[in-house]
Amino acid sequence: MISAPTLGVTIWRCANCHAGYFPEPLLCPRCHGGAFEIDRVLEAVVEEVSVIRHMISQENWQPRRIANVRTADGLHMTVGLRDESGPGATIALFEEGTAPFGKAKR
Ligand SMILES: [Zn+2]
Repeated sequence: MISAPTLGVTIWRCANCHAGYFPEPLLCPRCHGGAFEIDRVLEAVVEEVSVIRHMISQENWQPRRIANVRTADGLHMTVGLRDESGPGATIALFEEGTAPFGKAKR
């Protein structure tokens, strides 16, 4: 089943101190709270881009770009890049299935 892209990426926010996390932690490293609320982030700034050129046992692998990004919250995550956005660019985040992706905002 192919699901349509969903705007934004799910993050988990500590119900106690409201720190944001991705992926969901077992306990909040900041206050050790164990309850999280789901939130969404819609955009992030690209910090670093890498290209995966080969993947073991994948014959028809196309080079893929992945980016380390930082949200306005200071949350770091790795997303698949769908365009040529480079470091410093603000990208819109979206999800396909459960995987996070980003592309230049328009
Ligand atoms: Zn907390």
